[in-house]
Amino acid sequence: MVLEGFGESLRGTLKKIANAVHVDSKLIKEVVRDIQRALLQADVNVRLVLELSKRIEKRALEEKPPSGMSNREHVIRIVYDELVNILGESRELPIKKQVIMMVGLYGMGKTTSCGKLAVYFKKKGLRPALIAGDVHRPAAYDQLRQIAEKIEVPFYGDKKEKDAVRIIKEGLNRFHRNSDVIIVDTSGRHKLEDDLIDEMKEIFRAAKPNEKLLVMDATIGQQAGPQAKAFNEAIGITGIILTKMDGTAKGGGALSAAAEVGAPILFIGTGEHMSDFDRFDPAGFISRLLGMGDIKSLLEKAEESLRGKKEAEKTARRILSGKFTLNDMYEQMNMISGMGPLQKIAEMLPIGFSDKLQNVDMEDTQRKLQRFRVIMDSMTNEEMENPDIIKASRIKRIARGAGVENRDVKELLRYYNMTKRMMKGFSSDRKLRRSLMRQLRFDT
Ligand code: GDP
Ligand code: MG
Repeated sequence: MVLEGFGESLRGTLKKIANAVHVDSKLIKEVVRDIQRALLQADVNVRLVLELSKRIEKRALEEKPPSGMSNREHVIRIVYDELVNILGESRELPIKKQVIMMVGLYGMGKTTSCGKLAVYFKKKGLRPALIAGDVHRPAAYDQLRQIAEKIEVPFYGDKKEKDAVRIIKEGLNRFHRNSDVIIVDTSGRHKLEDDLIDEMKEIFRAAKPNEKLLVMDATIGQQAGPQAKAFNEAIGITGIILTKMDGTAKGGGALSAAAEVGAPILFIGTGEHMSDFDRFDPAGFISRLLGMGDIKSLLEKAEESLRGKKEAEKTARRILSGKFTLNDMYEQMNMISGMGPLQKIAEMLPIGFSDKLQNVDMEDTQRKLQRFRVIMDSMTNEEMENPDIIKASRIKRIARGAGVENRDVKELLRYYNMTKRMMKGFSSDRKLRRSLMRQLRFDT
């Protein structure tokens, strides 16, 4: 698929944002550089790349996220919006009686797209007809006639006539009554030439088409810009058909050209068959390219873990304030097992004291922590908040509830008291406190 590599790089970049702990100007600048690189590699026009990345950077740095939206989500949203934006508006050809003129250089897929477009309108219940206006290549007549036969659509052409305008006038006369959508195929050239542009102007004046569709293929690269501009200045392009999107071309050249002339991309061709033709919707295209579904679930996970971090931070602050209950210890244990940035603090807390635990069998520690948790689950909230009230009768009840021995409950209480003593010393060490508070601010 065209732009696959581009999509991959951008997906990587968006994941970087989604996973970031902190969305700051450093990250934004890095992201903008990533996007620039991806766009340039996809052969997007340099000027467009600069414009686009500048806009993304400015918005990401200056705009505040709307309420209910995180910074991460907001920045991803901006990247997505701006990419959709350069692809232009989403436009659908009207379902009505009309004349459509196809233009473009040789081999871009004009003739094939005439057939595909006819099938499209046929499916919508309209009666299409095809006119062979390419008088430069002898084979062009047969190619369109064969397509017309295959899709069972009326066809007009004249192999001996060298004047495209005469053929087209005659065709329009014939079809004007019994057809709804008259599609006019035209000549191309190997490259942009003045006589091609003159020919298109003449046809344009004679056929008075409602739509003038430029056909470009995805392999065209940077020549797409001048081509699109020349056709647009001559006859005014109302839409673009991008073909060969099934290939492995970079595609950015053609996309830039569409952005440059400001004409919407209406369809993409995805193969040689008449059915290989899709309506183009910028938002859907970018969503798929960026894997927005993935990004969304990633963001949801990030939000969850952020909530978790906020909880952990609250607990850590409480601990630092000198108050320490069994509830706090319980939280602390959870922090140690499932916490990211607060890990640093956890490591400094007695229960996680790495140098202390290092020599202890980790599995044994895990088992012990698990047992402590089960025991605490059997306690009332009153007991968790005021562990001093836990005397013999309560110990018995708690042990029974947790399915452990009395001595296990006593061990937990001993452990709690030891931890509490250490926490006290800890919270009165001002230097340590300050450094921890700084870390807390930095991490969340
Ligand atoms: P024209 O010279 O602009 O009329 O281009 P044609 O319609 O004759 O197409 C040139 C070649 O490209 C033909 O071999 C087509 O079968 C092929 N082609 C057209 N559109 C597509 C497409 O979307 N995908 C692929 N893979 N080939 C296409
Ligand atoms: Mg052709």
